Amino acid sequence: MVKETIRVYARVKPLGRRQQAGIYSIDDDEKSLSTLEVIVPHDLADGVVNNKRESYKFKFQKIFDQEAKQDVVFDSIAKPVAECVLAGYNGTIFAYGQTGSGKTFTITGGAERYSDRGIIPRTLSYIFDQLQKNSSKVYTTHVSYLEIYNECGYDLLDPRHEASRLEDLPKVTIMEDPDQNIHLKNLSLQQATNEEEALNLLFLGDTNRMIAETPMNHASSRSHCIFTIHISSKEPGSATIRRSKLHLVDLAGSERVAKTGVGGQLLTEAKYINLSLHYLEQVIIALAEKNRSHIPYRNSMMTSVLRDSLGGNCMTTMIATLSIDKRNIDESISTCRFAQRVALIKNEAVLNEEIDPRLIIVQLKKEIQELKDELALVTGKQRTSELSQEELLRLDELIETFLKDNDPDGTLDVGTDMRKIKYCFVRMKQLMNHSKISDRKWLSQDTCEEKDTSKEAEELKKMKELLQQRDNEINILVNMLKKEKKKAQDALFQFNAASIGMPCAVPSSADDYYLSVGENMSLGCQEAFEVFKRDHADSVTTEANKQLLKERFAEAKCLGEKLNEVRNKINNLKGKITQRRIQNAALAVSSPSEELNMLDPVEEKLRMQIEEEKQSYRTMFNHLKGLKVEIEHLQLLMGKAKMKLQKDFEVWWSEEARNLQQEKPEMVSSPNTTTVHPQFVKSSQHLSTQSFSETTSVIPNEDPAGKNNSITSNNPTLKTRIPPSLSASIPLTGDSQADADILAFIKARQNILQKKGKSCQEMGSQT
Ligand code: ADP
Ligand code: MG
Repeated sequence: MVKETIRVYARVKPLGRRQQAGIYSIDDDEKSLSTLEVIVPHDLADGVVNNKRESYKFKFQKIFDQEAKQDVVFDSIAKPVAECVLAGYNGTIFAYGQTGSGKTFTITGGAERYSDRGIIPRTLSYIFDQLQKNSSKVYTTHVSYLEIYNECGYDLLDPRHEASRLEDLPKVTIMEDPDQNIHLKNLSLQQATNEEEALNLLFLGDTNRMIAETPMNHASSRSHCIFTIHISSKEPGSATIRRSKLHLVDLAGSERVAKTGVGGQLLTEAKYINLSLHYLEQVIIALAEKNRSHIPYRNSMMTSVLRDSLGGNCMTTMIATLSIDKRNIDESISTCRFAQRVALIKNEAVLNEEIDPRLIIVQLKKEIQELKDELALVTGKQRTSELSQEELLRLDELIETFLKDNDPDGTLDVGTDMRKIKYCFVRMKQLMNHSKISDRKWLSQDTCEEKDTSKEAEELKKMKELLQQRDNEINILVNMLKKEKKKAQDALFQFNAASIGMPCAVPSSADDYYLSVGENMSLGCQEAFEVFKRDHADSVTTEANKQLLKERFAEAKCLGEKLNEVRNKINNLKGKITQRRIQNAALAVSSPSEELNMLDPVEEKLRMQIEEEKQSYRTMFNHLKGLKVEIEHLQLLMGKAKMKLQKDFEVWWSEEARNLQQEKPEMVSSPNTTTVHPQFVKSSQHLSTQSFSETTSVIPNEDPAGKNNSITSNNPTLKTRIPPSLSASIPLTGDSQADADILAFIKARQNILQKKGKSCQEMGSQT
């Protein structure tokens, strides 16, 4: 590894004919370094006293003055680098300076004289000369020629193209591998086996470069050109290859845009050039700084390509080309300043050695064969790479025996043959893997089953939830139905109540009135209701009220008629009075007398009569008003009574139905069919009236006929409640609703009869 700073040289271009020389001096006194002093002349226009510096001093490895010849420059600058490259290190020589300062002349050379050949042809010549001289190594030489213009790379050596423009050349792009090595895609590497071939390639590249350049587009001064010589070397029989490359770089003009005074396309170019050189400067500043971790190589293509040359594995040399005429002093100073910074950069060049895998394979094969021969010699057996079929079978048996052996000290002895040992390991691994897989299968099956059960449980849970939901829904619907039913009944009540509130709608009889209530009932229910209402505790009062209402109606009707009569009478009397007055008036006209002015006794009498009639009218009217209040009150009472009756009936009915529901299974299970006399069912009216006396005398438990009663039931309540006089054989239909109705009817009737009996007894005791 060679660690050294970038070597920096300066070359001063000879002055042109019309150029006025600037003042500079070169001090070569020091042993290792030369000093360039640039004197900035006093500008009288700035006044006598100004602060401008007059002298600038820059140190270089060596400074080549105007007279320096190309061969000297080559020997001093390029030859040591070429030697390093031949030794296996990377090398770079780049020329930096303003346009026209001699970069191309230095790197490539002048076109006129052979002696003006630049570093590239001389290096090529030198390298091939050295290669020829050194026959101990095998060398391979390739060259590539890259032009970077406006941040685009072009391959100048592509033989397939005859470029008339730069854009026609293959575009080269940068690729970076995981190890951050830069690779130039599309850049052809042309093999050059001798100096002539290499020079031809250089000529091809320069021609392409020249053709691509037009008077409008001075690409050569605005582009960077990198000619690279790739050398690989190895000693015969050695697997070690040394690869090295030498970049010979002709950079674009470093002049500042402001000074060029260009615009449009040229300005764009200048910007690009300046930008890439600016990035080069950035890289160099970064490299010159200590402890700087990030170096901005990627900012431009040129710095990316020269990555190794700058701060990497490379021996790098810079030539600062200076055009020291009066006009270019500033640019020259700028170039020198840049060079001073570059001089601070330290590079670490390492020998690029790598092992050729093909050669290693050949070597190893040879080694193996030698070892085999040796082994055969020792064992007396020629060893093949494969085990025979019999050997394999024998090994399988041994493995099986070993695995089945329960003895912890059991061993598997296959000898010292590595092939056999390896086979045993491989076979055992296979067996282990196989058992693992089958275990896993079992495991997965188990988990599948578990999954299935959990799935089923989950479904069951869902179903249960659904069922619960449905139950809830049904309950809600049932409740709703009940409510609806109640509403309908209430509505019915209200309707009926409203109808009795109207005098004209008052039913003519109690039967009419109650019939309307039971209209929506089933037949059995209606019959039960008929009986129930007749025997209801309030029925007497209701009947009395009804009677009273009837009477009051009749009375009111009578009164009304009488009132009408009185009114008519009064009107009649009034008419008479009017008539009388007319008569009197007519009489007064025909025979006026004083008497006429006196009160008419007839009229007076009529008036008296009217007053009397009026009095009676008032009395009757007041009476009628009282009657109306009474009637209205009675109607309200009856409405209430009706509602109470309906409610009582409903309560009773539902109670009976519930009892029946509980009794039913026993009844059904009874072997004796319950029978009722047909007339009992047919005529409730008859029963309700005739049964009174019978019921009163009946004490169910004492009734001897009860035992013979064809209505047999295990329910004592039912049994006792049915009066013996009603003994009947009731044909149950089998239809639960109908049977329930029938039985309810019977029970209802019994209750009513009992109630009637009680009230009669009370009445009897009262009287
Ligand atoms: P650059 O490449 O920096 O723009 P060139 O190398 O093209 O400049 O030089 C400009 C001109 O000056 C060319 O005609 C070239 O021949 C000439 N020239 C440059 N350096 C020298 C030198 N050292 N000796 C003689 N002529 C030179
Ligand atoms: Mg040039």
